[in-house]
Amino acid sequence: MLRLSTLALLAISVPALAQEINVYSHRQPELIQPLVDAFTAETGIKVNVAFVDKGMAERLQAEGDRSPADLVLTVDIARLAQIVEADVVQPVQSAVLEANIPETLRDPNDKWFGLTSRARIVYASKERVQPGEVTTYEDLASEKWKGRICSRSGLNDYNIALLGAMVARNGEEAATKWIEGVKANLARKPEGGDRDQVKAIAAGECDIAIGNTYYIGQMLNDPEQKAAAEAVNLVFPTFVGGGTHLNISGVAMTKSAPNKENALKFMEWLSGDTAQKIYAETNYEYPVKPGVERSALVQSWGEFTPDTTPLADIAKARAAALKIMETVNFDG
Ligand code: FE
Repeated sequence: MLRLSTLALLAISVPALAQEINVYSHRQPELIQPLVDAFTAETGIKVNVAFVDKGMAERLQAEGDRSPADLVLTVDIARLAQIVEADVVQPVQSAVLEANIPETLRDPNDKWFGLTSRARIVYASKERVQPGEVTTYEDLASEKWKGRICSRSGLNDYNIALLGAMVARNGEEAATKWIEGVKANLARKPEGGDRDQVKAIAAGECDIAIGNTYYIGQMLNDPEQKAAAEAVNLVFPTFVGGGTHLNISGVAMTKSAPNKENALKFMEWLSGDTAQKIYAETNYEYPVKPGVERSALVQSWGEFTPDTTPLADIAKARAAALKIMETVNFDG
């Protein structure tokens, strides 16, 4: 009797073990969990998530063929470009991904796929900045903002991508002048994350800051941060002659993916209606899939014109942007 039931248990547990995938995520575990739970409930496929903060490409290179990872989830186009350059991902051909994700938000060589986008905009004090006072990124270097701008580190990926877009659009010389101008306007040395700049504006330390859209959604939903978020207006600046800077979060399949078939299922699912809605509602990001609605809050921020500088060009300008940021000693 005992032997039979043991066998019965084994018979159940073997196929269950096979239905697993492993994800290395640079994205916050709290954000990924609702997606993972919904996917597992729908498909029975278990998703193990390892949070990898730094050195994603190096880790995958070191692990080589023995890597347990099937997929990488990350923010920022340059990070996606880095893992492609490190040759640790494989191209994925999928009619579902092609149908769900606009061409401009995926790699022409099918090695990375955007899952959400976010705009990098200006948080402006409701009290001290009038509507219409900021309209372009270029204007942040103008003298009228002297001592009025707060910023996180210039070396942060989001800021490097914004400066990279400036390099791609206007060249290195103009980009250098611009970031020097912004630095000259700082109210304090760069510190903290985007949310800390909102808090600094609310506390009267500065009047404007550059930050990502979704952080305001997160803050408005946090009783401790709500008041600070309510002290700022969201301004969607454009590049002169261009649009508002966008970045993405995305997914790539590792070269060594041991569970390729199920990993592809998860990738496709992440680009579909259920996941896109979760991204929109729980993290206030812009869904990439046409037709999936933005959250009501994000809709209230209004429409804007996304800049058309190709993401690949922004990634290519990363090295130049990093060098400029170090040369002007933005954080110093
Ligand atoms: Fe972020």
